[in-house]
Amino acid sequence: MRIRTSDLRLLCLSVLTYHLGDNVDKISKQQRSKIMSKIHSKWTKQEILVHRILIRSKIEHQMHPKISGSPDILLNNKKIAIFLHGCFWHVCPKHYRAPKSNKKYWTTKAKRNVARDRSNVAELRHAGYRVIVIWEHDIRDSRKLVKKLNALTANIK
Ligand SMILES: [Zn+2]
Repeated sequence: MRIRTSDLRLLCLSVLTYHLGDNVDKISKQQRSKIMSKIHSKWTKQEILVHRILIRSKIEHQMHPKISGSPDILLNNKKIAIFLHGCFWHVCPKHYRAPKSNKKYWTTKAKRNVARDRSNVAELRHAGYRVIVIWEHDIRDSRKLVKKLNALTANIK
């Protein structure tokens, strides 16, 4: 899927606003682009896309909230936590294929990741959050993803 320039501009602006709050006007252009490149190198494609959809749908949210259970996104005041999972690292039931070499190493790693994901989800649920997982394969079809997010947020608006 292609990201339009106008979307990207909106995204950058909101990312900046999110990270810098009111200080956004107090920094120079040079600093700004430095910060922006830093942010973008850290964010995954999945994060950028979902963040953008949430902004467009005017759904208040927080990326990378510092709470235990470490979800990727929190929908503000809704007690909804979102995880964005890569099909490989988080062992997607549909798409995960263990690499052929170093099998033992990868199996151990995969098991560890799955266990950590489970305990994170359990922790959040225990704290009263509804937990939603958006897989990497969900974002391949951006129209489906928009639908999914809309359905989700229609319930909670
Ligand atoms: Zn998958």
